[in-house]
Amino acid sequence: MIYIGCHLTVTNGYEAMGHQMVSFGGNTFAWFTRNPRGGKTKDVDPADVAALSEILSQKSFGKLVAHGSYTMNLCSANADTRANGLEMLAKDLEKMEALPGQYYNFHPGSHTGQGAEAGIEQIAEGLNKVLWPEMHTTVLLETMAGKGSEVGRNFEELKAIIDRVELKDKLGVCFDTCHTWDSGYDIVGDLDGVLAKFDKIIGLDKLKAVHFNDSKNPCGAAKDRHEKLGQGFIGMEGMKRFATHPAFEGLPFILETPNDDEGYIQEIATVQSWFA
Ligand code: FE
Ligand code: FE
Ligand code: ZN
Repeated sequence: MIYIGCHLTVTNGYEAMGHQMVSFGGNTFAWFTRNPRGGKTKDVDPADVAALSEILSQKSFGKLVAHGSYTMNLCSANADTRANGLEMLAKDLEKMEALPGQYYNFHPGSHTGQGAEAGIEQIAEGLNKVLWPEMHTTVLLETMAGKGSEVGRNFEELKAIIDRVELKDKLGVCFDTCHTWDSGYDIVGDLDGVLAKFDKIIGLDKLKAVHFNDSKNPCGAAKDRHEKLGQGFIGMEGMKRFATHPAFEGLPFILETPNDDEGYIQEIATVQSWFA
């Protein structure tokens, strides 16, 4: 058994996403809480959310993994960009309360020349402003490829953020296979070693979700170009060994591969066939 799905558009509401993923054969999904490039969000319709919740329990879905906007940057050198990002994050998390108990993943940020240390401080400072003790969402920091000035390019940077956040129990990590590979972790040749490192530095209890992507580039390329399963440098065997590793059992796997609907339906079936 595996929880597998892909990104869906929220344009037609929450219930529509549930029906769509059922028709794709999957049992989890991701969606951008607002246009990936930023912009406004619609208000939540309680009836729509209730209809989705019904589907989730009827079809035994795993946790859902909402994704914050790419424009959200909690550690930009530009103070207005930082403030904007924080406002987006606060609003997104407030909105997530309509669908309690799910995951919200975001890219920690890009320090835009300030240095990783300063970036880590600002990201943690932002999180300390917007997390609250009674919230029902777990906020996930995504492992990043390390392109440009991205923060979160290694487990140490993610750990440094978590260490500075007061409400640590509200935080987790989303393991993006393409990003982690691109940032230099050999999940093909030494998956056990990578996981041992993750456990030692962050702790496997913080591992909450997976972005399941092959990569167009070799390990360590720091590029972040996703590829379809089996068509990249990780390869189908590597993807399979990853998905079937006991460390990831029960976690939601989200495909972010360059596919159309038909492609996602096929990849979902492929991944499920590894568990049959
Ligand atoms: Fe992402
Ligand atoms: Fe990702
Ligand atoms: Zn990516």
